[in-house]
Amino acid sequence: MHTSLRSIVQNMPKAELHIHIEGSLEPELIFALAERNGVSLPYASVEALRAAYAFKDLQSFLDIYYAGASVLLQEQDFYDMTAAYLRRAEADHVRHTEIFFDPQTHTARGVPMATVINGIHRACQDSPVSATLILCFLRHLSEDDAIATLEAALPYRDKFIGVGLDSSEVGNPPEKFARVFSRCKDLGLRLVAHAGEEGPPAYIYAALDVLHVERIDHGVRCLEDHALTRRLAEEGMPLTVCPLSNIKLCVFRDMKQHNLLQLLDAGLVATVNSDDPAYFGGYLNENLLAAFDSLPLGLQHAYQLARNSFVASFLSEADKQKHLDDVDAYFAAFNLT
Ligand SMILES: [Zn+2]
Repeated sequence: MHTSLRSIVQNMPKAELHIHIEGSLEPELIFALAERNGVSLPYASVEALRAAYAFKDLQSFLDIYYAGASVLLQEQDFYDMTAAYLRRAEADHVRHTEIFFDPQTHTARGVPMATVINGIHRACQDSPVSATLILCFLRHLSEDDAIATLEAALPYRDKFIGVGLDSSEVGNPPEKFARVFSRCKDLGLRLVAHAGEEGPPAYIYAALDVLHVERIDHGVRCLEDHALTRRLAEEGMPLTVCPLSNIKLCVFRDMKQHNLLQLLDAGLVATVNSDDPAYFGGYLNENLLAAFDSLPLGLQHAYQLARNSFVASFLSEADKQKHLDDVDAYFAAFNLT
């Protein structure tokens, strides 16, 4: 890729809409927190842990991801993890981020909901990057567990803007969470769900028609269904695509096979995101550069992706417009055709 396009992509204003905060825990911080909290890890060193990051699918990743999260016990741990991510986001010129967190990963270990939410939220308040929170339900657990989690989180309702659905997709279709999503909709929470990463297009339909989500996380398998692709384009339904994650978890064989360009060409509001950056080899700019290095993407695509990231966000219309004006001003210096 041309050097100037690289720097344009790195420096452009952007939003991140698909980042699991527990997936930003770097091995160094995992070991530091383990020592601070007296937790013993099943890995001898930072290097041994990093070497274990060779995944064959989503489940093999989740097993290590949950082991890493076990070092998070005190509010300050959640603060430090979130602050570290936000510093990296700021360095990548992320102006706004909507952060996923998985309370069940922590409450199941006896960590109080207040510890989780207050630590993450306080770090967001202290950052120069605009940041809001989306509480995700773990789909491999029951819907009753999700409902109990929602109830436990409601005293902190002012600290998160929406809910999502993550963890093991195949075998845990969106329909399983119809009741809890219906309740969240009544509460005025914004709704998203992972669908069509490893799961089939039917899961994307169910996320739309049963859960009534406003954004699809991943969704890359939509292209297997022409009617679905057309519908997503017509509805302007955003997809939060995570290129490095898709390669690490073998959704695509390599980056040259990734369908990001086809998604954009199909008129979809596709965005690029980092998913679990500590585990998948990079933060937002590294995801963008990996895609631009391997696919025939140019300046116009960079502009489109920067715009899409704000259009797809849950910011107010006024705030969206302010960021879109910044994107336009930034790209005005370059030769867009
Ligand atoms: Zn994800």
